[in-house]
Amino acid sequence: MMRAAAFSPIMRFLLMSQPATQRVITALTAEGASVRFVGGCVRDILLQRPFRDIDLATPDRPERVQWLLERAGVRTVPIGHGTVTALVEGGETFEITSLRRDIVCNGRHAVIAYTEDWTEDAARRDFTMNALSADADGAIYDPYSGLSDLYRGHVRFVGSPMARIEEDVLRLLRYFRFHALYGRSAPNDAALAACRELAPRLASLSGERVRDELWKILLAPDPASILLLMRKLGILQYVLHEASHFERLRVLVWLEEQRGFPIEGIVSDPLRRLAAVLTVGERTAEAVATRLRLPLAESRRLRSLLVLEDVPTALTPAAAPGMTEGALRRALQTLGAVRFRDLTMMQWAARQAAMGDTAIDDKTDNRLLLQRLRTTTQWKNIPFPVRGKDVLALGLEPGPKVGMLLRALRQWWEETDYQANRKVLLARLAELVRKTARGSGKEGA
Ligand code: ATP
Ligand code: MG
Repeated sequence: MMRAAAFSPIMRFLLMSQPATQRVITALTAEGASVRFVGGCVRDILLQRPFRDIDLATPDRPERVQWLLERAGVRTVPIGHGTVTALVEGGETFEITSLRRDIVCNGRHAVIAYTEDWTEDAARRDFTMNALSADADGAIYDPYSGLSDLYRGHVRFVGSPMARIEEDVLRLLRYFRFHALYGRSAPNDAALAACRELAPRLASLSGERVRDELWKILLAPDPASILLLMRKLGILQYVLHEASHFERLRVLVWLEEQRGFPIEGIVSDPLRRLAAVLTVGERTAEAVATRLRLPLAESRRLRSLLVLEDVPTALTPAAAPGMTEGALRRALQTLGAVRFRDLTMMQWAARQAAMGDTAIDDKTDNRLLLQRLRTTTQWKNIPFPVRGKDVLALGLEPGPKVGMLLRALRQWWEETDYQANRKVLLARLAELVRKTARGSGKEGA
């Protein structure tokens, strides 16, 4: 049994501060099991960073974990591989994994065996900083010197990098993710050599697993540098060979983080970041969405940022930032505020990157673009006040002609800068109907 490396009352305080956590721990330890916090929460508390979710480990088997929790009124969902999810009222979730060792580890299809030995469980974890655990009293267990690696910013594999990546090639991507988030020194040579050699195996990962990891890399404080490093090493080509605008991504991140230019409502967005680093065009949008198995909504959004045929030139990356108020309204109205804002940010990033300038200063262009972005947060679409039934009311039969008339009318409405109200539009519609009737009359004659 491992000895605790350190004891920290602060750790105890932070880990146990939530009533939901106390409830789950009380349930899991009710029959005497020793339960520990593992993974991200331990790591992030030690660095005084906010943590996202709580992972726990226990020597009890999953069936017993479920029994203990359900008995205490906590809902559970077994998710396989020895892990049970606990859902506490109020929306908090916990993942509880039974101590295990991997017998055969071949990507996702690991054959596992349960154990009561904490050291064996730590040995299957990927990095030394991820092999740390802590108990509810705040004692920290550190079998692989993960603490010192964490504090020095060394992302180090538990065991040989080559062997560990061969077991599960996702660890290759995780290596770069953790390096992006926790690394403060140059990546280790042996680890990089293993990553390079095994990179072709990335092609065997499912799109979903790659996407999850890529999203986390994109959300790191400086995704551009890490993606660039991956490209230089010949790794990125196996997951995202379409990535080419690293500087653009760098500026976009700068903008999103709002250093110097706070913009309300703008948060870090992995999809926008992805779009920024990719080459524009239909083919890229489709290939990436398919390969990463993006859900439909995300796939559409990616497309809307990479396929720019319907986008006014003033909003394309090459254009200058000047835009008349009318053009601005029109762009907002036709593209929608979200797409407009995303494209503006990408355009801004592209321009700045082309000038080799990552820091954004108080130049007039920047002020204009900033103003444009601010407009988006207040924008409400103006509804088109005429419907198909208004056309039918003028005596037309349902059919393609109705749509044609509506489109023509809408275009005219845009030209009036959305000033024409329903009454004016209906008059115009009647005029259009008369004109087309005359037109087809002539044709018939
Ligand atoms: P975060 O939740 O912030 O993404 P995390 O470290 O908690 O980070 P999880 O994916 O939640 O990451 O996994 C929890 C723990 O399980 C990790 O800390 C690590 O110890 C272990 N782990 C996860 N995936 C792997 C893997 N592919 N190979 C080895 N160990 C893994
Ligand atoms: Mg986690």
